[in-house]
Amino acid sequence: MNNNDSNFNRQNRNTQNPSYQQQSSNRPQQSGNRPQQGGSRPQQGGSRPQQSGARPPQKGKPPKKKVRFHPNKDGIMAIIALLLGVILVITIIVCVVKAISDAVSSDKPTTESYITTSDTLDSSTTTESTTTAFVTTAPQAGAWNEGYVLQNYSNTKVGEGDLVLVNYEYEYSFPSSMEKKIISMYGQTGHGTSYVLGSNIKLNTTIVPSLVKMLDDMKEANADTLSNGDKLLISSGHRTLEYQQELYDKAVASGTEGYSAKAGYSEHHTGLALDLKIYTSKGATIDLRANEQDWLTSNCANYGFIIRYPSEKTDITQILEESWHFRYIGVPHAQYITENGLCLEEYIELLREEHTYGKAEPLKYTSGDNEYIIYFVPANEAESSTAVPVPASGKYTVSGNNADGFIVTVTK
Ligand SMILES: [Zn+2]
Repeated sequence: MNNNDSNFNRQNRNTQNPSYQQQSSNRPQQSGNRPQQGGSRPQQGGSRPQQSGARPPQKGKPPKKKVRFHPNKDGIMAIIALLLGVILVITIIVCVVKAISDAVSSDKPTTESYITTSDTLDSSTTTESTTTAFVTTAPQAGAWNEGYVLQNYSNTKVGEGDLVLVNYEYEYSFPSSMEKKIISMYGQTGHGTSYVLGSNIKLNTTIVPSLVKMLDDMKEANADTLSNGDKLLISSGHRTLEYQQELYDKAVASGTEGYSAKAGYSEHHTGLALDLKIYTSKGATIDLRANEQDWLTSNCANYGFIIRYPSEKTDITQILEESWHFRYIGVPHAQYITENGLCLEEYIELLREEHTYGKAEPLKYTSGDNEYIIYFVPANEAESSTAVPVPASGKYTVSGNNADGFIVTVTK
C-alpha cells in the first residue's frame, strides 16, 4: 500500500508537473527494455530497481513520447561517441598528412640551406659534401675528364698561386714559396728604356716576362706620347707587411684610406700587383694619360693582367677606382673577366658556384689557338690535404684561391 500510495502520489504529481512525469516514467522503460545497459552501468541499475518495483502498473503503458525521448538521449550519446570517433580518425588523418607533408617539404629547406651555406666560404658542411661528390665521381670514358688522376695538395697551398684573392675579407699568408719568387725589377729587360723604377721595386718573378712584354708593346702602340723621353714608371710592386701598415696609417691620416688596404689585406703583398705611372722627360711623375690608359684597359688582359679596382665594382672590392693598379692572374682568366665585366671576387665566386669539379661542367674558354678548361676544387677541410683531379699528362696549373679551395687551369 505504501508503494501504491507513493505511486499514486507520484502520478498525481506527474500530472501537475510534466517535466517530472517524463523523468520518472522514462526510467522504468529504460530498465525494462534495456537490461543490458544495467549491466554496463551498475550505478544506474542499482538505483532503478526500487523505482520499477514501486510502479508495476506503468509497465503496460505505451507512452510514445516517453519512449521517443530516451533513445534520443542514448542516440545523442552514441552520436557523440561517433563524432568523437570521427574526430579521432580525422585527427589521425590530418596528423599523418601533416607528417608526410613535413617529410616532403623538409627536402626543400635542405636544398635552400645548402645554397645559402655555399655562399659563405667557410662552410665545412658544403665542403664536405662537395668533396665527397668529386672524389666519388670517377671520370667516364669519353668525358672531358677522362684520364684525370688525383694529385694531393696541402691545404696550406690554398693561399698560393696566381689566382689568390686578397681583399678586405681574405688576408694574405705570406707563404715562403712566394717570398722566394720576389725579385727586384731594377735591371730587368727594358729597364731604362721602356720604364724606370727604383731598386726597391720588387715583383713576383712569374709575372715579369708578361709585364715586360706588355710595357714594350704599350710603348710601341703609344709612340706619340712615349717616344719623347717619357717612360712608364712602376711606382709600386710587392709590399711588406710593415710597409703596407705605414701606407695605411698615412692614408688614414690624410683621409684617403679608401684607396688603401689594411696591412695583410693588400694584394701588393703577393708581388702579383703593381701600380703604373708615367715618368716624364722633365722628371715629373704623372698619371697615365688617356691614350695610355685606354691601351692598357683594352690590352692588359692579353698579357694576363686586369684592372683590379674598376669604378663599377667598388661596392664589391671595397676599394675606390684605381685605374693604375694592375693585377696578374693569367691570360685565360684575365680575358674571361674582362670580356664578361667581372671583378676578381665575382670570378672566384663564379668558379665556385658554377664550375666545381664533380658537381658541374668546367668553364671552357678559347683564346686564340688555346683551349682552356677551368674548374674549382674545394679544399678538403676534413684532412690536411686535398686530392685535386688533374690531367695525367699535358699542361695545367693549380692555384689556390686564398679562400676555400683550388682552381685548376688545363691548357689543351
Ligand atoms: Zn696598387
